Amino acid sequence: MTSPASGADSSDYAPIPRSAFGPALNEQGYYVGRVERNLYWVTDGVYQSAFLTTRDGVVVFDAPPSIGDNLRRAVDEIAAANGVTNRVTHFVYSHHHADHGGAASLFSGDVVRVGHEETRRLLLRDNDPARPVPDVTFADRYTLEVGGERAELAWHGPNHTPDNIYIHFPGHDTLMFIDVVNAGWVLIYNLNLSEDVIGYMGAPAIALSYPWTHFICGHLGRLATHDDVAVHQQYIADIEASAREALTSIDPVPFYVAAGENLWAGVKAHLDAVTDRAAAPVIAKYTGVLAAADIGEFTRTTTFQIMQSLRLDHGVTVSRQAQP
Ligand SMILES: [Zn+2]
Repeated sequence: MTSPASGADSSDYAPIPRSAFGPALNEQGYYVGRVERNLYWVTDGVYQSAFLTTRDGVVVFDAPPSIGDNLRRAVDEIAAANGVTNRVTHFVYSHHHADHGGAASLFSGDVVRVGHEETRRLLLRDNDPARPVPDVTFADRYTLEVGGERAELAWHGPNHTPDNIYIHFPGHDTLMFIDVVNAGWVLIYNLNLSEDVIGYMGAPAIALSYPWTHFICGHLGRLATHDDVAVHQQYIADIEASAREALTSIDPVPFYVAAGENLWAGVKAHLDAVTDRAAAPVIAKYTGVLAAADIGEFTRTTTFQIMQSLRLDHGVTVSRQAQP
């Protein structure tokens, strides 16, 4: 299982539910579809982007480099079909990560770039010519109005990253919120590589506080639904409950005794045992429900992060009370 060839063998894993897939990609390797009215989404099957056509110009939201030039093609295709301008006048960053914004520089010239003030700070730090810093920034809320259309941008605290924002389209019954919920699929490592565990865990409830029918979550091949958010929330709640149970019922002392003078070996053995005990029932429950849930390392690393947050943020202590 160490070579890429054997690791990528799909026969090693449970079948992917058909409901986890979206529409077929075209010959160029992308799909562009209407979300509602003049709001469109684009996917390459793994990443998602969106754009709004207006009478005054096109507003693009995120530019994953994996979609790259196909984003420009998708805008041109839709603009031509609807007889509206294909001139991109505005670009919005959901957050600073290169895998969602690394093709931002494709839209240059007099494009107005909009992002959270922390996105600007992080992009100045990262100094990546592919991700030009936003010209327009905001702290809590910003209403972007272009050609009679509106997007409400809001920051509700750190989650996946310190700067990840909620993008609501009140006239399109849609929320765009990236890298927290994966439509139909399990999270990848460490809560989708997230930085703030508590902020991440609370974010879906904030997403649900907005009115929407369509949810652009940034990943995989289809849009997300309220059901996807509910399954995600239950998955996280199950991990939290399981981690709490394992943390408070496994006695650490025998692990330290066995490790002798190597204290860190004792830490590893104890935390590995807690993580494995907490993750196993969650992996079993969600295999067949969330695509790729049987790739145990994804749930195990997420469980480890949540278990550490229970210890460090919530002050849940290991306990010997369950022991004789
Ligand atoms: Zn990200």
